Amino acid sequence: MQSLEALTRDARALANGDIVPAPPLSAAEAEVARQLQICNACRYCEGFCAVFPAMTRRLEFPQADLHFMANLCHNCGACLHACQYAPPHEFAVNIPQAMAQVRGQTYVDYAWPPALGRLYQRNGLTLSLALAAGLALFLVLAVVLQGQGWAVLWQAHSGGFYGLFPHNLLVSLFAPVFLWATLALGLGVRRFWRDITPATSGAPLSAPATTEAADAVLRLRYLDGGHGEGCANEDDAYTLARRRCHHLTFYGFLLCFAATSVATAYHYLLGLPAPYDLPSLPKLLGGLGGLSLALGTAGLWRLNRRRHPDHGDAAQKPMDLGFIALLFLTATSGLALWAARGSAALPLLLCLHLGAVMALFATLPYGKFAHGIFRSASLLRHAVEKRQPNPIGLGSD
Ligand code: SF4
Ligand code: SF4
Repeated sequence: MQSLEALTRDARALANGDIVPAPPLSAAEAEVARQLQICNACRYCEGFCAVFPAMTRRLEFPQADLHFMANLCHNCGACLHACQYAPPHEFAVNIPQAMAQVRGQTYVDYAWPPALGRLYQRNGLTLSLALAAGLALFLVLAVVLQGQGWAVLWQAHSGGFYGLFPHNLLVSLFAPVFLWATLALGLGVRRFWRDITPATSGAPLSAPATTEAADAVLRLRYLDGGHGEGCANEDDAYTLARRRCHHLTFYGFLLCFAATSVATAYHYLLGLPAPYDLPSLPKLLGGLGGLSLALGTAGLWRLNRRRHPDHGDAAQKPMDLGFIALLFLTATSGLALWAARGSAALPLLLCLHLGAVMALFATLPYGKFAHGIFRSASLLRHAVEKRQPNPIGLGSD
C-alpha cells in the first residue's frame, strides 16, 4: 500500500510533467488485466507455461506488460480447461481467448508503416487479393514475354524456368518485396522490443538467456503443456499434434528458404544456373522442405478447423486459415513443379508457384507470420527477466 506521502509526491510530479501518465488500456487489455488479477491470487496454472511465472513478478499490469505477456502466451488452451473460474463461472476467466485478442491488437499497433496495420484486421481479404495479384502478374508476364498468346501457358517449354522468366527478372521482382517484408517486420518488432524492455526489468541480453529463448523457440517448448504431453485442441485431452505440425511447418519453411539461398549461391558464386537435378543440394532441400511444409500445414488446417471455439479470437480465424492455406499452396505448387519438369503443365504451375510465393512475401509483415517474430521477442525478454531478482519477492520463479 502506498503511503499518503508517496501518493502526494507522485501527484506533484505528475502535475509538473515529470511523470508521463501510463497509456489507457483498451477494453481487451483491461479484460486481460482483470483476469490476471484473479490468476495472481489463484496461481494454480503456474507450471503450464512462461506466462504464469511472469505474472507472479507483477502486482499490476500496465499496457507494455500486457503486450509482453500476450505474446508470451502460446494459446495452448491448458489454463482454460484447468480453470475453476472459467465460464460459466461468474469470474469468466478465459486466459487463452483474452490473450489472443490483445495479441492480435499488438500486431496492428506495432505494424510498420502504421497505416498498413489495418491489413491484419481484413487479413482474409488481404491474402486473397495478394494471391490474385501475384497470379495475374506472372500469367500476364508469361504471355507478354513469350509473345505467343495464352497458349504459352499449357505447352512444353524447352528453356525450363528461366526460359519463361529470366533469372534477373525474377530477382528484380522478388528481392525488393522480400527486403520490404524484412524491413517492415524488423521495424515493427523493434518498436515492440523498445516498449516491453523496460517492463521486463530493462536488463540487457545475456548468452544464457539467449540460449534458453532459442531453445524455447526451436523446440516450441510451451506447446508441451508444461508436462510434456502436449496442449489442448478440440477438448481438454492433451495432444502433441499441434506441436508436431508447427515443427513440420516451421522447419519445412526454413528448408525451402535454405534451398533458395543455396540455389542463389550456386548461381552467383559457382556459375551454376538452375534447373538442378537430383541429388543436388537445392533440389534435396527444396523437396524435403516442400514435403514437410505441405504435411505440417495440412495438419494445422485440420487442427484449426476442430479447435475449441473458446480458445481463440474468432475474428482472427480468417488470418490463421488464410496463412495456412497460402503456405500449403506454396508448398504443393513447388512440389508439383518438381514432377512437371519438361511437361506442358510447367508454365501454368510455375505461374501458380511464383504468384503464391510473391503473395506470401508481400503479406509476411501483415499476417500470421508475425506471431513467430513477436513471440520470439517475448520469450527472449522473459528469459532475461527471470534471471533478475523478483521485484515483489512473493512468487517463485
Ligand atoms: S487460469 Fe484459472 S486456474 Fe489458472 S491461475 Fe488463472 S484463475 Fe487459477
Ligand atoms: S493458453 Fe497456454 S500458453 Fe497461454 S497462458 Fe494459458 S497455459 Fe499459458
